[in-house]
Amino acid sequence: MEDRISCAYCGGLIPPRPDPRGRRAKYCSDACRAAASRERANKRHAQEVEAARLQAALDLKTPQETLAEVVPGA
Ligand SMILES: [Zn+2]
Repeated sequence: MEDRISCAYCGGLIPPRPDPRGRRAKYCSDACRAAASRERANKRHAQEVEAARLQAALDLKTPQETLAEVVPGA
């Protein structure tokens, strides 16, 4: 394996930055780390919104829509 790794967010090369604890940076910069963190949070939020939306769609289905599903062509 190559010793150098690229930024998990932008794909850019992470500048060598020896860490006394031996931990490697996952991102090339704080901006990328923040952006990636924000993106993860947004994604999680989007999934929750989508799940809630689907649940609401089930609850808000009109009788006609339900009938159309049970009786095709109705
Ligand atoms: Zn980056």
